[in-house]
Parts: sequence; C-alpha cells; structure tokens
Amino acid sequence: MPFDCDVVVIGGGPAGSAAAAFLARSHVRVVLLERDTFPRFHIGESLLASVNEVFEAIGATDLIRRAGFPQKWGATFITPDGGVERFADFAISGEVPFPQTWQVPRAHFDDLLLRHAAACGADVRERHRVLDIAFDDDGVSLTYRREDDPNGAAADAQATPPAARVLRSRIVIDASGRASLLGRRFGLRVDEPGLANVAVFSHYAGVPRNDGRRAGDIRVVARSDGGWFWLIPISADLMSVGAVLPQRAFQAQPRLDHHALLQRLIADTPAVARLMAGAERRWPVRIERDFSYGSTRYAGDRWITVGDAGSFLDPVFSSGVAIALESGLEGARAVARGLARNDLSARAFATFDRRQRDRYQSFRRFVAAFYTESFRDLFFSDDPPPRMFRAIVTVLAGYWRPSWMSRVWLQLFFLSVRLQERFRFEPSHLREEQGHEDLEGHEEDLEGT
Ligand SMILES: Cc1cc2nc3c(=O)[nH]c(=O)nc-3n(C[C@H](O)[C@H](O)[C@H](O)COP(=O)(O)OP(=O)(O)OC[C@H]3O[C@@H](n4cnc5c(N)ncnc54)[C@H](O)[C@@H]3O)c2cc1C
Repeated sequence: MPFDCDVVVIGGGPAGSAAAAFLARSHVRVVLLERDTFPRFHIGESLLASVNEVFEAIGATDLIRRAGFPQKWGATFITPDGGVERFADFAISGEVPFPQTWQVPRAHFDDLLLRHAAACGADVRERHRVLDIAFDDDGVSLTYRREDDPNGAAADAQATPPAARVLRSRIVIDASGRASLLGRRFGLRVDEPGLANVAVFSHYAGVPRNDGRRAGDIRVVARSDGGWFWLIPISADLMSVGAVLPQRAFQAQPRLDHHALLQRLIADTPAVARLMAGAERRWPVRIERDFSYGSTRYAGDRWITVGDAGSFLDPVFSSGVAIALESGLEGARAVARGLARNDLSARAFATFDRRQRDRYQSFRRFVAAFYTESFRDLFFSDDPPPRMFRAIVTVLAGYWRPSWMSRVWLQLFFLSVRLQERFRFEPSHLREEQGHEDLEGHEEDLEGT
C-alpha cells in the first residue's frame, strides 16, 4: 500500500504539536489527527523553565513571548496556616539557562502551538478521531473518523455518521494524552494506586497576588490531610485554583457536589481561605480522578508514545506540560533519525525509551515524597542547606538530570527524608494531629507502589 505520509501524530496537545512542528521543520511529511476543535479547555496551566529550550528548538519562542502570558519565575510553597513560605526561584539554581517561564490558559496556549505546527508545514486535521491502529511489517494503518462539526447541520441527530477512513504511514507517534491509545491497546500502563489522587478546581477573579517578581508564581499550599492547593495566575484577572486530595483524604470528605466540595476545602485550609475571601468564581467547578500511571515501554517497532499518552504524574510540581513538550521534541528527533536511516525498529528508539522512563522516574521520586510527612518537614524547615536547596530547585525548574554535584545533593536530601521518617529530627509544620494520622496512612499506601 502507498504511504499517505511518513509520520502520523495522534493528538494536538503540547506533546503532539511539538513533535509535529519539529518533524515538519525537518521536511518530514507529517499528519496530525486531533479529535477536538481548538481552542478547547484543558487543565495544566503552570509551565517549568525547561520548556523554553523546546520553544527554541521548534521555532516558537517569539510566538509564546508575544502572547502576553503571565511571567513565572518559580513556585512558592506554603504551609496550611500560611506560617511558612518557601520560595523556589528558578534563577537561584545556576543550572537553568532561562529561568523565566509562563502561566498559560491552556485553551489559548495549545491553540497557538497547534497553529504553529500547521504553519511549520504539518498537515493538521481537527475533528479527526483515531479509532484503530494496525501494524504490519511495512507500515501502520490508522483508522479514523471525521467528527461532525458541532455547529453544523451534520450535528443533527438524524444525520448518518461519517464513514471511517484509513491513513497509511511509516510510523505513528501517540500523543493522545490520557486517552493513551497505544498504552491501553498494548497493556503498557502501570497503575500508581498510591498516587491515584482526586483534583477539584475552577477559575476565580479577585484573588490577591504577591508583589513584583513573585506575582506570577504558582502558589502551592499544603493541606494537613496530605492534599494541597494550587493557585496559578493565568491572566491579568483570573486565578486557577484547585485542590488535590489523596484518595484516603477524599473519601474522608462528606459527599458533596463539586462546587460545595471545593468551597469546603478552601474554607478549611486557612492560608487559602484568606486569599479567597473576596474571590468570585468564573468557571464551573471540574473534577479529575485517578490520574497517575507509569508505562512499561515508551517505544516499539514503528511507534513511540510521548507526553501523557505514555505516563502521567500527579501535578504537584507542574511537570506534565514540560514532560509532554520535551518528550514530543525528543521523540520527534528519534523518529527523524530513524526515517533517515530507514530503521524504525524498537532498537532505534531505545535511547528515547530509556530517557523517557528516567525523566518520569526523576519527577516521580519528588512527587511521591511530597505526599510524605518527612519530606514536607524538611521542605518547610527553617534553614535548608543552600546547595541542597539549589539542587532541588534545578529539578523543580524541569532539569531532571542536573550536574553530578547536584545529583549528590539530591541523594543526600532523600537520605535526610528517610532519616527524618525514622528520627524526626526536624519539627513538623503539619500541626494538626488529624493531619498527621491521614498523612501517615497515605505513606503506607505509597510504600506499596
Ligand atoms: C488536575 C491537573 C492539574 C494539572 N496541572 C498541571 C500544571 O499546572 N502544569 C503542568 O505542566 N501540567 C499539569 N497537568 C498535566 C497536564 O495537563 C498534562 O501533562 C499535559 O496536558 C499533557 O500534554 P499532552 O500533549 O501529552 O496531552 P493532552 O494535552 O491531553 O493532549 C492530548 C490530545 O489528544 C487528543 N486525542 C485524544 N484521543 C484522541 C483520538 N482518539 N484521536 C485523535 N485525537 C485524540 C485530545 O483531544 C487532546 O487534544 C495537570 C493535570 C491535571 C489532571
């Protein structure tokens, strides 16, 4: 069968758009199939500094700069009562070349990147849902269906649904996000029961911001039940506000509708309640559940997975879009090399596969630790050793494989977390007894993962 293109990318989120833009700029014939019509809502608004290097590589730096998104220089971590504020300023690291990044309303940001991929020469097709992927020795056949335009006459319930069609390609890049088409099909997904958390969130106006350089920070407020809040300034007047709860803490809450639940969580987190005193909700309250999973593989013969399609981590350190963009770019580079050498076998993607696993595990170590009391005790301690703290900030800026010296400091930090678990040499900032118990229960959940 003749090929319609060299590469099909499934999904037009950050991972798919970065991959398609890079390939098109490398003169590869690439088709991107996206189920939805952009712009569309998506959660995940806080970026890391490492994404600047991806923007540069795909020629999108000026595009993002001109968009006027709020500038982010780091993160502020706050204890439940607001007593301790820990600033993680990406500029202190010394290993972060461009420390300033962005907070982005995803509808606009994803739309910019998708249009950029098209402007680079990718054949971008919205309202195209991939239904099936079949592999053979020579290529890949993707069955897709054109979704009806929701505003058009064809949306009429009586209209015949459009027929499925087939697109033939040499290789497929799965960037379908948490739909995770290949991960589900090949049974690659590894559940993370200890991180199967629940998020409830909305957008608000009238939430005060910090001054100056800290104004664009994401604020992460720890809760005493092991959960936490995010507050992300996504535009001049809107703040994205959400709570993430471990399953155990979620189940301890009364059964309420989403709005009442978010209100209750705001009210019983003193630092957030103060900030939200004059806030007005501007969006429906949404909820997402069970969102973390790993993967046994990220590549095989004629396929790779990038972004959430491969694996997904709880968002406490805002790593999702950075992982999506970087893996989209690295995956595309590996595919371009494979096409040039006429080798699209699993072996040709072994380095990509290993790096993607390492990238996931590097962030996972921090995320899993964040849900333990000993990590929080040290993280919020009065005087963390400066070099150790700088090493932590380097990873939190997205540089998951820092210098060997920083890696030594990170090892020492995680060793200290283990010692704290045993000897409790630092006082706890999670003062409420109930909170201690809940968190300890959650630590047991995590041990099994
Ligand atoms: C509660 C919560 C908060 C988060 N907060 C942050 C944050 O602050 N910062 C951060 O960096 N990350 C955050 N994330 C993570 C972030 O949302 C994701 O990691 C990121 O969107 C992944 O990008 P992606 O391109 O891999 O997937 P997506 O952005 O999900 O894109 C996948 C695309 O594939 C399309 N698709 C799916 N199935 C098909 C199909 N069959 N055919 C064609 N197209 C298809 C979808 O329509 C979608 O557009 C958060 C996540 C959650 C759940």
